[in-house]
Amino acid sequence: MNLERLAALVSEENLSTAIEDRIVYGRDASRLEGECLAVVWPSRPEQVAAIVEWGREEGINLVPRGAGTGLCGGAVPYTPSTQEDRKGSVVVDLSRLTKIGPVDVERCRVRVEAGVVLGTLNRHLATNDLLLPVIPGSHQAASIGGMIATDAAGLHAVRYGTMRNWVEEITLVDGLGRVHRLTEEGMNDIVGWEGITGFVTEATVRLIPSPTQRTVSLLSFEDEEALLTQRDRWLADPRLTALEYVNRHAARAIGWEARPHLLAEFDSDGGEIADPQRVAALWRARDGLYPVLARSGYPVIEDPEMNGEGLASLLAWLEAEGIPAFGHLGVGIVHPCFRPDDERVPALYERVAEWGGRVSGEHGIGLKKKDWTDAAFRAEARRLKERYDPQQVINRGKLC
Ligand SMILES: Cc1cc2nc3c(=O)[nH]c(=O)nc-3n(C[C@H](O)[C@H](O)[C@H](O)COP(=O)(O)OP(=O)(O)OC[C@H]3O[C@@H](n4cnc5c(N)ncnc54)[C@H](O)[C@@H]3O)c2cc1C
Repeated sequence: MNLERLAALVSEENLSTAIEDRIVYGRDASRLEGECLAVVWPSRPEQVAAIVEWGREEGINLVPRGAGTGLCGGAVPYTPSTQEDRKGSVVVDLSRLTKIGPVDVERCRVRVEAGVVLGTLNRHLATNDLLLPVIPGSHQAASIGGMIATDAAGLHAVRYGTMRNWVEEITLVDGLGRVHRLTEEGMNDIVGWEGITGFVTEATVRLIPSPTQRTVSLLSFEDEEALLTQRDRWLADPRLTALEYVNRHAARAIGWEARPHLLAEFDSDGGEIADPQRVAALWRARDGLYPVLARSGYPVIEDPEMNGEGLASLLAWLEAEGIPAFGHLGVGIVHPCFRPDDERVPALYERVAEWGGRVSGEHGIGLKKKDWTDAAFRAEARRLKERYDPQQVINRGKLC
């Protein structure tokens, strides 16, 4: 592997083969691990095409990485069990692509580079009373490029949907080093495909005026059946902006009464609690759920998506098994948390498939769930790979 040529493309301080960097970049938040030979940090979007050209010539697998908060190993180098990929992987960390363009206040648009962190962007936009309203739990760290690649959802998905709804244009460098500017239909080949079709280097995103009032209601229930009835009532309320679930086992972990809870947020006076400090405290407790559960020995987080009758079956199964769970119930995404090596994880996937749901509602497939996708998904992934990256230079071994 000719690293001098790579260093010449980005300058020496933007390339590392130090063991500490290789260890860190061999992982992401999924706890999966792979072998990283080197890390490269492009500092200008144009450098990405040159890095792809280098990867093609060297036969090296290039792994796109934003903030590394992904929970399915999408940014983890693929380590094959055979010699087929013996040249290994270089991780391309896009977190130094941090330019935010001028805010178009009238059209509610802004163009940003892929490494911009959502929290930073929204603080920047707040001076113009604007907001990018897709808010994953990881909003203080996740990058715009990573959010596009995973089609991130999150706390307000019930009102604002996923990242797909908020991207107007994407600049993509594909596996042949070609630069595309994609809008509308072309974006479906990129958004949610977890970097297998190329590197997102820049994007124009849509914004909304920041909501001026937020109120919340927190209710607890005797059982999940009563909770789902209230869910249906709140879903019919046009003021609803978030609808979060906390089951009995998870509620206990954050010091709430050991009963199933629903936390609903409204963009006006629909909720019972209007005091901004109490509202913020409730959201802090909700944001702290996964860290608390992870620290209490449940670090493995899943994200099945179920709707209809399957949702009631899923919640009942988690409750009966004593599995702590929370999630974005407004859109049917639930986050059961497990101890490492809990054998009920594959049982969960089997049940979700049987009840007609998806094993991943928002975290993605990556390395972790690639054996759990269906034939149509795998065929589409292969078609896109052939179209954008026929030599398998970018994110090899992911999704299928
Ligand atoms: C505590 C916690 C809470 C979370 N809550 C949510 C949630 O509510 N909703 C949700 O959807 N997710 C959630 N996540 C998962 C994660 O934060 C999201 O998937 C996020 O969008 C990943 O962004 P990232 O910048 O960290 O991407 P990374 O983890 O670096 O990468 C994720 C995937 O995108 C690819 N990728 C990254 N950047 C690019 C790029 N520029 N071009 C092409 N491909 C790229 C990578 O190869 C990988 O496949 C959570 C994670 C944690 C740790």
